Amino acid sequence: MLTMKFGGTSVGDIERLGEVVSIVKLYLSRKPVVVASAMGGVTDMLLGMAQLAEQRQTQQVTRKIDTLREKHFQVITALVRSEDRRKALLLSQSQIFDELTSLCHGVSLLRELSVRSLDAIASFGEILSCMQIAAILNDSGISAQFVDARSLVRTDAHFGAAAVDFAATNKSIRKVLKPLVDANIVPVVTGFIGSTRDGLTTTLGRSGSDYTGSIVGAALGSEEIWIWTDVDGVMTADPRHVKGAIVLPEISYREAAEMSYFGAKVIHPKTMMPAIENNIPIRIKNTFNPSSPGTLISRTANSTERVVKNVTSIDNLGLVAIEGSGMVGVPGISARIFTALARVHVNVMMISQASSEHNVCVVIPQKDCAKAVKELRTEFEIDIARKIVDDIKLQGGVSIIAVVGEGMRGVPGIAGKTFSSIAEAGVNIVAIAQGSSELNISLVVNQEQVHKAVQAIHDAFRLA
Ligand code: ADP
Ligand code: ASP
Ligand code: MG
Repeated sequence: MLTMKFGGTSVGDIERLGEVVSIVKLYLSRKPVVVASAMGGVTDMLLGMAQLAEQRQTQQVTRKIDTLREKHFQVITALVRSEDRRKALLLSQSQIFDELTSLCHGVSLLRELSVRSLDAIASFGEILSCMQIAAILNDSGISAQFVDARSLVRTDAHFGAAAVDFAATNKSIRKVLKPLVDANIVPVVTGFIGSTRDGLTTTLGRSGSDYTGSIVGAALGSEEIWIWTDVDGVMTADPRHVKGAIVLPEISYREAAEMSYFGAKVIHPKTMMPAIENNIPIRIKNTFNPSSPGTLISRTANSTERVVKNVTSIDNLGLVAIEGSGMVGVPGISARIFTALARVHVNVMMISQASSEHNVCVVIPQKDCAKAVKELRTEFEIDIARKIVDDIKLQGGVSIIAVVGEGMRGVPGIAGKTFSSIAEAGVNIVAIAQGSSELNISLVVNQEQVHKAVQAIHDAFRLA
């Protein structure tokens, strides 16, 4: 059994969907289970529509729903040739569009868009997409069945980035999907979405279909999990920004997790977790170039010839510094910083502390900076008054760069080479951190200089 996840671009137009059919056909004897995303751009469109509904831009909402209907209708007309099947699908889709219209209407009436409503609206993309993929496969002579992942993936109620209840989810996946696979029917499962115990729709976070792919693949004990996307595999850097980035044939789970956490958009950071637990290899493959071997992500995949594997970056961050000469040797400062940030649900991306203990820096998403600074000022109010802490300072508009590779462990000079390459490019380093795993060196630079710095590191390690 193979689990194959197809991303937004791979299911984004008539031609690509034709390719999906060929791929599924080619691997039919390996009993594929399909997990798919919304058509490319549809999730953004749905989220935009939800905002417009909140602002009562009713005409624009209607126009967007029409565009969305037309987009799916064109695909169905082109690729579902059987009239009965086409009619049935158009009917089910029009019911879904009615539901979407009512939801948007509700948001307009209340002028309130909760994260819960956003998830409900965002879920339509995957539902529409997977319904049409199942019909297209059936039309091509492949027995397939649409499966709404809300009946499989049980989550908590953390809308927007819900946590999966694996015990319940694995049980449902096996119960629903195994009989289909045994009967040689290809399940076409919606990525990205799940539901709470009370049946409320949730999502697993943007780009979460990769995660669904690995949840499904792991629960079913697939031979491998294949992530079909629009590039030949995981590359040494983001090909959109770095000249000379090349495909890595093999990386380890840990490297993949580290790279994706620090911005390599090609795979969602949580994808590796279910695969690691069940030791299932993940392969990243290109629907535009299916014969290319792609990148294999596994426990053992760790060719040692390349010490540094990848340079990534993540933008739109802020650096909050808690400073004060009175902080030296005072226990519990860091614990208080993290507790305060956790209280306001701020995710800390990176921590750095100078050995003098004068200064603790945390890097957090830009959007959370105001509330983080406010909370920290409240937490340290008395310490500020007593001059133990001088101030809580904020520097916005920064990026983290991460240099990742398991082979870095114990090899001297990697940090030195990283920093000197950046200095030669004339980029100032704002802060530095290295985890004790030595899998990754991360540093903070001003966002305007991030591409220059990433290119300089990429060139220095001759990653191309
Ligand atoms: P999908 O819709 O298939 O999920 P995504 O757009 O989420 O695809 O991810 C694929 C994109 O990730 C690529 O088109 C590429 O531009 C980008 N990307 C960023 N960093 C990397 C990297 N290190 N290796 C490969 N692709 C990367
Ligand atoms: N459609 C969702 C998104 O755009 C999930 C995914 O594509 O993985 O974020
Ligand atoms: Mg993706």
